[in-house]
Amino acid sequence: KGESTLSITVVGASGDLAKKKIFPALFALFYEGCLPQDFSVFGYARTKLTHEELRDMISSTLTCRIDQRENCGDKMDQFLKRCFYHSGQYNSEEDFAELNTKLKEKEAGKLANRLYYLSIPPNIFVDVVRCASLRASSANGWTRVIVEKPFGRDSESSGELTRCLKQYLTEEQIFRIDHYLGKELVENLSVLRFSNLVFEPLWSRNYIRNVQLIFSEDFGTEGRGGYFDQYGIIRDIMQNHLLQILALFAMETPVSLDAEDIRSEKVKVLRSMKPLLLENVVVGQYKGHNKGGKTYPGYTDDPTVPNHSLTPTFAAAAMFINNARWDGVPFLMKAGKALHTRGAEIRVQFRHVPGNLYKKNFATNLDNATNELVIRVQPDEGIYLRINNKVPGLGMRLDRSDLNLLYRSRYPREIPDAYERLLLDAIEGERRLFIRSDELDAAWDLFTPALKELEERKIIPELYPYGSRGPVGAHYLASKYNVRWGDLGEA
Ligand code: NAP
Repeated sequence: KGESTLSITVVGASGDLAKKKIFPALFALFYEGCLPQDFSVFGYARTKLTHEELRDMISSTLTCRIDQRENCGDKMDQFLKRCFYHSGQYNSEEDFAELNTKLKEKEAGKLANRLYYLSIPPNIFVDVVRCASLRASSANGWTRVIVEKPFGRDSESSGELTRCLKQYLTEEQIFRIDHYLGKELVENLSVLRFSNLVFEPLWSRNYIRNVQLIFSEDFGTEGRGGYFDQYGIIRDIMQNHLLQILALFAMETPVSLDAEDIRSEKVKVLRSMKPLLLENVVVGQYKGHNKGGKTYPGYTDDPTVPNHSLTPTFAAAAMFINNARWDGVPFLMKAGKALHTRGAEIRVQFRHVPGNLYKKNFATNLDNATNELVIRVQPDEGIYLRINNKVPGLGMRLDRSDLNLLYRSRYPREIPDAYERLLLDAIEGERRLFIRSDELDAAWDLFTPALKELEERKIIPELYPYGSRGPVGAHYLASKYNVRWGDLGEA
């Protein structure tokens, strides 16, 4: 560790993501002693800032976890001293050559590894990669680049982006981030499945009736709809975050926990799926709503969104995996903004017990009495398994209860942010949680035809009130496959 040095350059350091997530995650890693002894962090953007101004900006968002409060101030000072700023254009090789000179000064002739984090809009990804790789790559260590979504907006543009990036970088140097893969409960999915005998044997069409992947936000675009309007909820959440979870959930047992083994299994799942059909999608858009004397704006009331935008802020989709394990099992996805609650969950509904002896003893109908496994990704992480049990006392009445693992009670220590895990993995060269280019291609192939059709046919999204449960169309879609959506957050 002492022999080498690490330079981390956050490109787009003046932006929202850098402030909110990247610098705080780097500080948390520093606090935990996870960064090499010798490191420096550079912010790069067009905005003119001094080192001090960057440090002031960063320090306003650094926090310590509850159990780290003691020497928090000292640690922050030590971290901020290692942070520097360089202002430059994103397409200027000269500016990156200057950055290179500054990086070299800090690296002082040691073996130097360099990590670039592209926290910038996608239209300048390739410029930055060109300039950084030609003029500011490490001469004697590795150079890696973390790229943020969106990775294109359909199969063609994504393929084009990959081709352009690969003119300057090898696949091994590109770390495509999907921060959902860094979430504790998503990482835990494989552990749950492959280290517990009680789950894996049930993990198939023989026992599972349907799988639901649900993402919900309780706020709208709130004046930041410019970016979102070009992409919509299917590209923003489904094609990446929910599909990634689906692939991890459904994959066969990998040969090992090595990145390539896991990613190859995920690709196999994606390639076993048929592209999403338009008849299996419902799109919605939130509209203005008055509730309790308060007015909530509609999506098109956002001044950064065109007045007649048809961009979906909600979508529900039914997908199928055509392999021996999952044939016929509906995987339902639902994602929306401005809904009644916020959260992300995986819900697994099991089949009915054949010839159930207790049919008469259920208070509710049998359909509600099947086992359900819920993995709550956020907020309030938890795993619970819904079982049937007898109500204590005389007689024979059955009830439903939850075997509940609530992380907050079991592990009071704060869970690290997904960006911490992912940054650490990129530094350590662990690629398991990053998206390989063939995975990305397969993911786009599933969504591109439906996205094209939605846009070409100008399909009008079903309006739903801000703060509601979304359009009723989602329920019709689910009932077409005999599914009832679970209620997010319901324990
Ligand atoms: P941002 O604030 O809009 O942009 C980051 C920086 O890029 C800005 O501070 C600006 O720096 C520069 N920039 C902005 N627009 C530009 C343009 N048209 N041409 C050239 N430079 C421009 O973006 P962000 O929210 O931090 O997100 C960064 C990246 O992460 C994006 O690709 C986004 O899609 C992705 N992402 C963001 C979030 C999030 O929570 N915000 C979550 C997931 C993914 P200067 O003007 O100083 O050069």
